[in-house]
Amino acid sequence: MMQSETEIAGPSKAPGRREFPLGQGKISGVLSVFLGWLSLGAVVALHFPEFFSTPDARAAYPMSFFRILIDVVLYAALALGVISLVVSKRKSRGILGVTLATIALILGGSHVPIEEAVAKRPYLALDWLLLSIFATVLIFVPLERLFGRVKQRIFRKGWRTDLAHFGVSHLLVQITVFLTMLPAALFFHWAVSDRFQSAVSSQPVWLQFLQALFLADLFAYMAHRLFHQVPFLWRFHQIHHSSEALDWLAGSRLHVVDIIITRAFGFIPLYVLGFSSMTIYAYLTWASFQAVFIHANVRWKFGPFRYLLATPQFHHWHHSATLYDKNFAVHLPMIDKLFGTFHLPADQWPSVYGIEDKSVPDGYMKQLTYPLIPERWSKLDNIFRGE
Ligand SMILES: [Zn+2]
Ligand SMILES: [Zn+2]
Repeated sequence: MMQSETEIAGPSKAPGRREFPLGQGKISGVLSVFLGWLSLGAVVALHFPEFFSTPDARAAYPMSFFRILIDVVLYAALALGVISLVVSKRKSRGILGVTLATIALILGGSHVPIEEAVAKRPYLALDWLLLSIFATVLIFVPLERLFGRVKQRIFRKGWRTDLAHFGVSHLLVQITVFLTMLPAALFFHWAVSDRFQSAVSSQPVWLQFLQALFLADLFAYMAHRLFHQVPFLWRFHQIHHSSEALDWLAGSRLHVVDIIITRAFGFIPLYVLGFSSMTIYAYLTWASFQAVFIHANVRWKFGPFRYLLATPQFHHWHHSATLYDKNFAVHLPMIDKLFGTFHLPADQWPSVYGIEDKSVPDGYMKQLTYPLIPERWSKLDNIFRGE
């Protein structure tokens, strides 16, 4: 490994101009727009729960708390929008934030009543998207500001594309979960044994959780290696590796085929062994957090724990522009150790992320269709563009 390819741990130099200069109304403007969208989204979900909320989650929602939260978000959007309008020379953010929150208020705000029985039908998981982005931004944006390894902008190159990936993958979770579970049920039903499953699910939850973590990661590891080794599959997985800046949002850049196949592999042992539903929920919660965390721009190295659980440093090496054939596991580094693909130098991080091939386009729809267009066509396209 050449020294020039790595970077010693520690924050790098800040870019010249501050992204958020204090006192200029930019922070309040951006926050107002973000919270304005959240409040409007929440009010739409309250009006049309059958179309925009997850049926299994509805009954469990603490609605009185959520209504207070919607009020807080909505009035914060209004107040911050007004501050931005007064302070900032650029009025567009303040106007947009105030407009979104005002529409949310006109539509009934947090007081929209919900019918007792909501019909079950195909839906877009707007509730899952709003809760997820709210919690993730709340946790990771301050963490990356305080403990960032690379000083990079929140609105860095490609953020719109990654946000679109984040949005679509959350909204379409009903379809992706169905397609994730389908192959196991179709091809591995023969392996299911009721006696074996009841023995598995009667173990303590913590033990089942560890077993599920290991087996799901082992199967997903195999899929992940296939995505790297089979040229046709690499075209899909290349999308994920095209990120040149890593942060909490970068992990969302995944082609839907990549998401479904990798998760379907991981789901096979969970289906066959029949872990308890408590274990599955615990695993899914952990996996959702981990998918964001391992991409986060934080400089923590976690001492000896970095050999136990996948950390940002571990997965960042998988995104290295020169060493992306290492660290395929996303939970347990021991799996890479087992197969000889482990790489985690104590104090070093990759200095360049991404892949040599720069042909992956920016933009959600372009990335969605990119792997489906034959390679020779995209090369032809490059010739026409004079590249
Ligand atoms: Zn990969
Ligand atoms: Zn990744």
